[in-house]
Amino acid sequence: MTFIFAAAFLVIWTRDKGKHENLALSLGWLLLTSGFSISLMSPDHWGRAIPAVTHVPYTLAAAAMSWGVLTRVGVKPPLVPHLWMAFTGFATMMVVQNFGNSIVADVMITNVTCGAMMVMTAQLFTQATGRDLVERFLLVMLILTAAQFFIRPVLSLMFDGPIAAEAYRQSAYYFALNWVFAFGSVLFGLAQIAGSVKDQVSALYHKTSRDALSGLLVRGEFEAQVETLLNRANAEGVETALVIGDIDHFKQVNDIWGHQAGDGAIAAFGAMTETMIRPSDIAGRVGGEEFCILVWNANEAIAAGLAERLRVRTNALEIGERAFDVRLTASFGVAQQVNGEGYRALFARADGALYASKEPGRNRVSRASVISPTGSTTDGGSQAFKAQEISLSDRMAHHTKRYAG
Ligand code: GH3
Ligand code: MG
Ligand code: MG
Repeated sequence: MTFIFAAAFLVIWTRDKGKHENLALSLGWLLLTSGFSISLMSPDHWGRAIPAVTHVPYTLAAAAMSWGVLTRVGVKPPLVPHLWMAFTGFATMMVVQNFGNSIVADVMITNVTCGAMMVMTAQLFTQATGRDLVERFLLVMLILTAAQFFIRPVLSLMFDGPIAAEAYRQSAYYFALNWVFAFGSVLFGLAQIAGSVKDQVSALYHKTSRDALSGLLVRGEFEAQVETLLNRANAEGVETALVIGDIDHFKQVNDIWGHQAGDGAIAAFGAMTETMIRPSDIAGRVGGEEFCILVWNANEAIAAGLAERLRVRTNALEIGERAFDVRLTASFGVAQQVNGEGYRALFARADGALYASKEPGRNRVSRASVISPTGSTTDGGSQAFKAQEISLSDRMAHHTKRYAG
């Protein structure tokens, strides 16, 4: 059974060799397999050499599994302390074996060592941020695994008393050990498999929800997440704003530099955007060269500040290997959610602001609240520009042009 888990994690590892935690888990199960094999198949006359020899694979298995389980959730595994604990246990057993004839002390030492390593692992595991069903299952299994190392020896010794080395494999202790380990390791192994499957599913989800070129969310995923966030902002009274950015004269970028350079520009813009937003913001590619950011916990002025930083950075982007003397520029529109409005309404206002940035010459940031239909204007923030009076028909024409194709 433990060998099957060792093989399973080896197969899982070959699918993504960068995930060393699966290799560590495979190694852990392999060590456990060898420990069990020695325990079960070594000749009786080996006596107290059996617990001494098996101490090594058992404690190393605990260290390897701890390494795998913790690395998977992004917590640094305590490998060096674990190796010291394993060694101290072994050294103690060597000393203890000079006294008395009972194998109980030997067995206790290995159990206490592995138990302490698993307690440490469970405690560190609680530092991981994820708290979904799979992670809770794993934590419970870690705690149960740790606990059985302490409970099992004590319980079975209450019934058995001291065990001579030769009688070890006929003892109630040995019987209990095998059964607890058989059931326990299946559950623990399944919990680890569940974690690994979850990782693969989320990697697949990441692949389908992200746009390959820009690395930002694809339009459908972005819109779905924005809807959720806008509802939440409304319910919790959090200010949020939407930024739309559109690369200027992108047709010319393609025409003059070629389509490949155009793709490079989209990739560079996406990567830049990702590094400049906060973890609570989300960014998506909503059109060919059109990007959208939901800025969480920010009013229009703050979001316009972000848009301005993006605008300045866009001017400094270097695309492709060759140094082109033509710089990329982008225009931005910003709108803050008002009266609990939904994505459509908010997007339309941000889009109106984007149009106000395009119309007078591009490469600027405009705020929806500043470009009222009456044409009363204040400075849009970054640029000393006067927002144009934008008639409804102008905007409609713009929309028709943009969404016709
Ligand atoms: P404006 O300043 O008004 O935004 O002008 P524009 O040329 O950027 O605007 P328009 O929306 O008319 O043109 C967008 C162009 O983007 C048209 C299309 O060929 C190009 N495009 C869309 N998706 C991609 C892509 O994935 N890669 C490349 N290289 N070009 C793309
Ligand atoms: Mg454009
Ligand atoms: Mg466009």
